[in-house]
Amino acid sequence: MLRGVLIFIVGVLAGANAVYFVMKDGERCPRCTPVAPLARQDVPATPSSTATPPPLAAARARSPDVASPIAPPPVSPTPLPAATTATPLPRLAMPLAGLTPAQLHDTFGETRGGERQHEALDILAPAGTPVLAVADGHIEKLFTSVRGGLTIYQFEPGGRYAYYYAHLRGYAPKLAEGQAVRRGQVIGYVGSTGNADPAAPHLHFAVFELGPERQWWKGTAINPYQMLGGVAKPADPSTR
Ligand SMILES: [Zn+2]
Repeated sequence: MLRGVLIFIVGVLAGANAVYFVMKDGERCPRCTPVAPLARQDVPATPSSTATPPPLAAARARSPDVASPIAPPPVSPTPLPAATTATPLPRLAMPLAGLTPAQLHDTFGETRGGERQHEALDILAPAGTPVLAVADGHIEKLFTSVRGGLTIYQFEPGGRYAYYYAHLRGYAPKLAEGQAVRRGQVIGYVGSTGNADPAAPHLHFAVFELGPERQWWKGTAINPYQMLGGVAKPADPSTR
């Protein structure tokens, strides 16, 4: 009799254990599959919560999908200059040697593939041009995605921002995840991997503000244009 009860209890415990592991597995799988990186290149994440230049505001008005319900409330309803925002954005070094702010084009608010907002800068340069770290930090992730091709996610030391370099032809020799890099250090080379036009090699450069969990595949895109010294231009060219 006692033996029967014991067997019954063991059976119940084993069953519960099996159910627990099945549930746990079900929870774990979606987390271990970072689908977002594929969506990052040329796909809108959530809109920037900080600096919002006039061109971006105009693009948002045109593009319905960027006004997503998960968008955080804007910190400041007024457009740039960024100097007036509560938290000044870091000033970044140029990602290509010899590049000047005047050569930059603010392509952050442009659309790509129809509805998608670009949320990055495209900087045209000959293939093989060295790509430089825009700030001190470390290499968080070396990732190959369908759209971005060969990419680098660099975190700054505070872990607040991620700097993203895409369409690379290659990485700097011995570049590795976890490696510390210095501002201006060569980390890769311009190319046209991913969905870039082979006839127009360029660096796709983006900045993401990371959440508290600091996951490289999750972040809010911030316009890097003024962080690189670009000067805000009027949204309407006819006002010149
Ligand atoms: Zn791009």
